[in-house]
Amino acid sequence: MKRKLGILTCSNMTQVLDCPVGGCLNDLRNRQGAFALYENSSVDLVGTISCNGCPTSTGYDVILPRVAGLVHYGMTHLHLSYCMVVLCPFANKYAKAIKAGYPGLEVVMGTHEPHQSDDEFRKQIRNQLAERHTAIIP
Ligand code: SF4
Repeated sequence: MKRKLGILTCSNMTQVLDCPVGGCLNDLRNRQGAFALYENSSVDLVGTISCNGCPTSTGYDVILPRVAGLVHYGMTHLHLSYCMVVLCPFANKYAKAIKAGYPGLEVVMGTHEPHQSDDEFRKQIRNQLAERHTAIIP
């Protein structure tokens, strides 16, 4: 059966820092990074969606309606993006909630290959987010 992939991203990256998910899609095309799993296989990408934003008083199952949107299109494998895996303090808890909510779904941690060390990436994103927040609060 053809595998049908979905990608769940960090909304800090997509909504605030304007990431178009290009790095993930490039490595999917080239079967690099976490997508090496599908070397020599044909897959469909059913969609990408960001998280709801950092959960504060909400529970981790707030992520489930996001996943439902992809399951609706037949997703069999959900990739949590590289940025989620490296940046998100809640990534493992989301993965646990998703596995509990969708036991038949394969949940894969990661998408594209790293382009720098994890610490360098965290520092870069921390600085970019600080710049954006400075820009909107004069
Ligand atoms: S850090 Fe985690 S919860 Fe917060 S916006 Fe990014 S992926 Fe979502």
